[in-house]
Amino acid sequence: MTARVVVDREVCMSAGVCELEAPGVFELDADGRLQVGEPTDLAAVETAVRACPTGALQLLD
Ligand code: SF4
Repeated sequence: MTARVVVDREVCMSAGVCELEAPGVFELDADGRLQVGEPTDLAAVETAVRACPTGALQLLD
């Protein structure tokens, strides 16, 4: 089973920090809605999860 990322959209404020840390996985669309792809670069995703200012991201095994 591969890891996956869950976004709590109630608390995500579209700051884009995750996109900076792991641009191949996270992307804010034109509406500021976060799109999440496959967490292929786990190290970068873990950094993004820690860096999210609102704690909106969770990495599940
Ligand atoms: S860093 Fe956190 S608050 Fe910012 S876009 Fe990503 S999930 Fe949302």
